[in-house]
Amino acid sequence: MVIGVGKRKDGLYYLCGAQRLQVNKVENMDCMELWHKRLGHPSFKVTKLISGFGKNKFENCDICFRAKQCKEKFPISEQRASGIFEMIHCDLWGPYKTPSSCGAYYFMTIVDDFSRGVWIYLLVDKKEVSKFLLNFFALVMRQFNKSVKVFRSDNGTEFLGLKNYFLNQGIIFQTSCVHTPQQNGRVEQKHRHILNVARALRFQGNLPIDFWGECILTAGYLINRVPSKVLNGKTPFEVLYGKPSPLQHLRTFGCLCYAHNKGRQGDKFVPKGKKCIFIGYPYGKKGWKVFDLETKESYVSRDIHFIENVFPFSQPHIEDKDNAWNLPHLTNISHEDEDGFYRGRSFEVRGAMIQPTQLLRPRMMCPHPLNLPI
Ligand SMILES: [Zn+2]
Repeated sequence: MVIGVGKRKDGLYYLCGAQRLQVNKVENMDCMELWHKRLGHPSFKVTKLISGFGKNKFENCDICFRAKQCKEKFPISEQRASGIFEMIHCDLWGPYKTPSSCGAYYFMTIVDDFSRGVWIYLLVDKKEVSKFLLNFFALVMRQFNKSVKVFRSDNGTEFLGLKNYFLNQGIIFQTSCVHTPQQNGRVEQKHRHILNVARALRFQGNLPIDFWGECILTAGYLINRVPSKVLNGKTPFEVLYGKPSPLQHLRTFGCLCYAHNKGRQGDKFVPKGKKCIFIGYPYGKKGWKVFDLETKESYVSRDIHFIENVFPFSQPHIEDKDNAWNLPHLTNISHEDEDGFYRGRSFEVRGAMIQPTQLLRPRMMCPHPLNLPI
């Protein structure tokens, strides 16, 4: 890797700025399987774009076979906007039959056409769409000094409520024609991608369905950090920020970890580490989000020891006396329907309804119900 380039003049080399020849470099790539899991089970086509992965093909991943659906794609134009935030696509999914750990039934996806960056918001109610969209527009202005020019969505009434705002702000609001949602193809395709990765993450750790929100947010986080052919091998993160995303902090979702026990207060006989599972990357904080298996609470910690090949929810016995955590039968739930989610406008439940589980006691609170590619 070149870290600097100099020009020779009068026998001296003058440094003229750093030049990066390799991006998305990953070290310690000796374990392909580990990185395949950390990155949310991307395909070989994608992983070979990451420097360090070499040409070793990791095949026959059981989770990939179970989680990914190869559906016929409708043709999507390869045209891209000419700059970041010139055009964004937005769509809402849900309601899902089981609330997430933070009480959400929906998730809203925003895709930037140019960078393919994804922002995901978990919503308790459809009414929150306007509030989160306004937050997003403010974020684009503050963090990127850009204004959204074109907003594209389907005909969902949740977006039509912002028509006046778009008019006042000069934003062009494009909706797809009735019964042709493929016109909103970019975000539809991204939804499928998010759900494929989220399913893989959940199967990997055999997590209870209540964790679907964490799976979706982490899927978005990883998608923003995985290179894409459409972006000539760059990641959405890199297109947005002009520098490659660090990857060394990535860990295997759903694995066992021990968070340093700060509550010991000098008691030498209290355990040093609390037994947790790793459930994602928090927004706006440095650290990892974990779920404490003893207290059933989630929190962010920076001091964590990971055991990336052990998945507590896959074990037949967990330290829970009523054995409520042992839920192997939940694994197949999301196969009931196309994506395990149902369109809000044609809500239909097939198969058995699953009771909102009381597995998580007390209910976990998400520190922030969104995931930004930062
Ligand atoms: Zn896989």
